[in-house]
Amino acid sequence: MLKRGTSKYLPKPHEAKVHIKKNDIVVVISGKDKGKMGKVLQVFPRKGRAVVEGVNIVKKHMKPTPYSSGGIIEKPAPIHVSNLMLYCQRCKRGVKVAKKFLEDGTKVRVCKKCGEIIEPKE
Ligand SMILES: [Zn+2]
Repeated sequence: MLKRGTSKYLPKPHEAKVHIKKNDIVVVISGKDKGKMGKVLQVFPRKGRAVVEGVNIVKKHMKPTPYSSGGIIEKPAPIHVSNLMLYCQRCKRGVKVAKKFLEDGTKVRVCKKCGEIIEPKE
């Protein structure tokens, strides 16, 4: 991780910075799902965690309800963002990102290696 200057400004807990956003394609860099790639489904900035499609799958036992028959369902559990890297389409790997401003003032994230803009297309 890069040092962010001096610590004059401490972000409040709810402003904790996470480098990934919903719909990002990320690569898992540690843990049991190391090497897996997936789309970010949900981000919890305050916890510094994110839910990634197909990553950190946990089995949950569900009681039958009027809406479902219950049983065991598998769903992705939140994973800490420090275990994730943004995927660069050009480098074909997880990369570190830098911030850049476009001519119209839009802030984008770019690959530190090749300069490719990494923003999810919606
Ligand atoms: Zn790249």
